[in-house]
Amino acid sequence: MKYSQLAELYEKLSSTTKSLEKTDILAKFLNKLKKEQDKSIIYLLKGKIFPDYDESEIGISLQLTIKALSKATGYQETKIVEEFKLLGDLGKVAELLTSSKEQSTLSSTKLTAEKVLINLRKLVEFEGKGTVEKKISLIAELLTSASPTEAKYLARTLLGNLRIGIGEGVLRDAIVVACCPKDNKAIPSKGREGSGFSWGCDEEKVKQLKEQVQEAYNTSNDFALVFEKACQGKLKEIVIDTEKPLKVMLYPKADDFQDAFDRLGKPCIFEYKYDGFRMLIHKNNNGIKLFTRRLDNVAKQFPDVVKYVKENIKAESFIIDSEAIGYDPKTKKFLPFQTISQRIKRKYDIEKLVKKLPIEINVFDILYYNGENLIKKPFEKRHEILKKIIKNDKYHLKLAEQIKTSSEKEAEEFYNKALEEGHEGVMAKSIDAPYKPGSRIGYGLKIKPQDQDFDLVIVKAEYGTGKRAGWLTSYTVACLQQDQFLEIGKVSTGLKEKPEEGLSFEEVTKKLKPLITKENGREVEVKPKIVITVTYQNIQKSPTYKSGFALRFPRFTRLRLDRNTEDITTLAEIEKEYQRANN
Ligand code: ATP
Repeated sequence: MKYSQLAELYEKLSSTTKSLEKTDILAKFLNKLKKEQDKSIIYLLKGKIFPDYDESEIGISLQLTIKALSKATGYQETKIVEEFKLLGDLGKVAELLTSSKEQSTLSSTKLTAEKVLINLRKLVEFEGKGTVEKKISLIAELLTSASPTEAKYLARTLLGNLRIGIGEGVLRDAIVVACCPKDNKAIPSKGREGSGFSWGCDEEKVKQLKEQVQEAYNTSNDFALVFEKACQGKLKEIVIDTEKPLKVMLYPKADDFQDAFDRLGKPCIFEYKYDGFRMLIHKNNNGIKLFTRRLDNVAKQFPDVVKYVKENIKAESFIIDSEAIGYDPKTKKFLPFQTISQRIKRKYDIEKLVKKLPIEINVFDILYYNGENLIKKPFEKRHEILKKIIKNDKYHLKLAEQIKTSSEKEAEEFYNKALEEGHEGVMAKSIDAPYKPGSRIGYGLKIKPQDQDFDLVIVKAEYGTGKRAGWLTSYTVACLQQDQFLEIGKVSTGLKEKPEEGLSFEEVTKKLKPLITKENGREVEVKPKIVITVTYQNIQKSPTYKSGFALRFPRFTRLRLDRNTEDITTLAEIEKEYQRANN
């Protein structure tokens, strides 16, 4: 496929903000993609080059892209930086500078989407000496044969911000439209009265199809595979695979114990809610893999856990769901998530850190066991299997504490015990519910002391002055609405100036700098990637921010490296919290 077809699609998609229009445009494109042999072009629609379960990222910095652009266009880097300051988007700069290049129109037809994929994938492989030069050459090769519009989107893809507003939901819906069975043609079309849009077929059928596609995606984390199977009408062939990570099931909040029983039935199971990070433990013939919620395999960082799994879980193959919590090796007291989160990214001195920050694994679910997929089995049955194969080994690996009860009083006593022991609260779980990868479906509910915090993503930041010059010290944060990030406030307290005192401005700055996509004086825009927990005193309605709300006295309390941007607090949750607090 010509890359120009993709560039044209990106242009169309960015010309509208309406989800249904985007779905329609994308579905038409997918109809063309159906005929292509290599469906992995679909990754480029989300600015990616591999399936979402793959940890490799393009990860090209602004500086490197500028160098490549200079090599491709012949313009001095200083000139490019100057234009970048004016336009604030390197994509637009690439478009502008390429259009003034004489040979641009001659060579523009050369570039194919496959070639873009090949070159971008090579970028990930390079390591060691001469890497920078090799990367610049590969990028310049693409930019040289690109038309101005193509160059714009190439630069944006490299920087990880396509700005076309395509998220998981739109892509899923477009797959439904493009691939659903002919007798149930789903067409997003204008409603009869012209008031908005509606799907041109049976709503119930559309809902089912969307669920099937979403489920296939949550299980495989691979849109190319989902698209291919959907086209063939074989989505059912996508089943969980012990080699690959899948999305974990999530849990909404219950108001109280009565609410939990009302929603889950009686009796139900209550478990301690541990304050650590989620870990999916996979074992098959090839060994043990440990996946985080962001689908990263962290087995290298956690050799201790690999050892506990070998010693305490008896089975040939499995996928087990658990929470990893850290504790102080001397006092054995549980540590807050923030303290142990450094183990997730650590690449060196791992053994030292294992001793300094030991981990206990608390197992609470099993999805696959010795060749059998268990997700449709009731929770209680799944748990029986866990009990059979797990040897409890305190401070290393054990089953999560649990009780089964129909009594609010007993549940409350269990909850108080959990809090006394330093845990976050409890999870209430339906005894007969299946496991649904990736959904916050309410087969289990969390109950914890009323908190005033949200998980939000940083979308902009500002450099400090004086003592804080050089660090990004004020962060604009956003919540999620469908596929869009809506700003809700600015956070500048909660971080330390000295790293030894805790999470510092320096550390957060280091994480944000490679994500910068636009600079405007002291303010920068960043690729929405870093999720943080923000506590606040109350929520107000506010016209200042796009979300329509503002947080009063927001404070940075946690860096959530385990969290994806798709899992952050939604606008609907904020509205609900606002209503609750003001009633
Ligand atoms: P919160 O922000 O309220 O701590 P969260 O955003 O981390 O919650 P939720 O899905 O909202 O994630 O809450 C459930 C999380 O609690 C799970 O993702 C898991 O990491 C953790 N957890 C701890 N103990 C358990 C347990 N016994 N069963 C299931 N999840 C547990």
